[in-house]
Amino acid sequence: MNGKLYLVGIGPGSLEHMTYAARRAIEESQVIIGYRVYIDWIAGDPVGSSLLEGKQIIRKEITEERVRARLSIEKACEGSIVALISGGDVGIYAMAGLVFEILSERKESKTQLPPIEVIPGITAAQAAASLLGAPLMNDFACISLSDLLTPWDQIARRLQAAAQADFVICLYNPQSHRRTWQIQEARRILLHYRSPETPVGIVSNAYREGQEIVITTLEEMTHHPIHMSTVVIIGNRSTWVLDKWLITPRRFSGSSCGDGF
Ligand code: SAH
Repeated sequence: MNGKLYLVGIGPGSLEHMTYAARRAIEESQVIIGYRVYIDWIAGDPVGSSLLEGKQIIRKEITEERVRARLSIEKACEGSIVALISGGDVGIYAMAGLVFEILSERKESKTQLPPIEVIPGITAAQAAASLLGAPLMNDFACISLSDLLTPWDQIARRLQAAAQADFVICLYNPQSHRRTWQIQEARRILLHYRSPETPVGIVSNAYREGQEIVITTLEEMTHHPIHMSTVVIIGNRSTWVLDKWLITPRRFSGSSCGDGF
C-alpha cells in the first residue's frame, strides 16, 4: 500500500494563515477532499488554485462528514495520497476524530490501515484572540454550544464549571438559524458567576471576507450579531479592555513569580 492520508487543518480563512506544512501536504496529495466552502476558498486564491491544479478535487456538503471521512480512507487504502481538509484545526471540532473512529472499526475487521499524518492549523479561538489582542493569556476553556452531538445538559454543566473556575471561555458554534436560544441560555448561566460588566469579544469571519470584531460586555453581548462563523470570548475576573483590545493578564493579581513567558 503506497497511499497516505493527510488530515489537514487549513486555518481560519486566508491562505496567509495556513501553515507551510498544510501547503506541503496539499501539494503532495493526488486527491483533495473537503467541505465545498473550504475547497472554494483555496481555489479562489491565486496561490491556492495552483496548489489544486491537476488533482482530483472532491467537494462535499456540510452534512456529509461521514462520506468525506470514509472516502478519504478508501482512496488512501487504494493507494492514493489524500488530503482531507478542515477549517481551522482538523482536530478541534472537525474531521480527525471521525476518521479515527472509522479507522478503529476497520482495525477490528483486520483491514490494513493507511499511514496517517495530522497537520495542525490555527483554530478559530487563536484567530479571534489575535484580533482581540491578548484575551487567552491565562487558562481558558473552549465550549461548543452545538447540542446536535452533545446533549444540552452536558453543555450547561461545562459552562457552569468553566465559569465557576474563572476560565476565560471561548464559545464555538454559538448560534445558527435553528439554534438561537443556546447563546441566551449560556449568557444566563455565566451571569450567575460573573459580573454583567465582564468584557466579551465577538469575532466573526476571522481572517475571511466579512470579518467583524466587537468588544462588549456579558450583559450586552446578545445584542450584537452572532452566527455560525462567530467565536465569542468571555473574559475571566481579571480580563480588561484597553481601547479596542481585550486583555487577560498572564499573572494572577497577587502572584509574584513569572513562569517562562
Ligand atoms: N475546526 C474549526 C472549528 C470548527 S467548528 C477550528 O479549529 O477553528 C465551527 C465553529 O468554529 C464556528 O461555528 C465558529 O464558532 C468557529 N469558527 C471557525 N472559523 C471561524 C472564523 N474564521 N471566525 C470566527 N469563528 C470561526
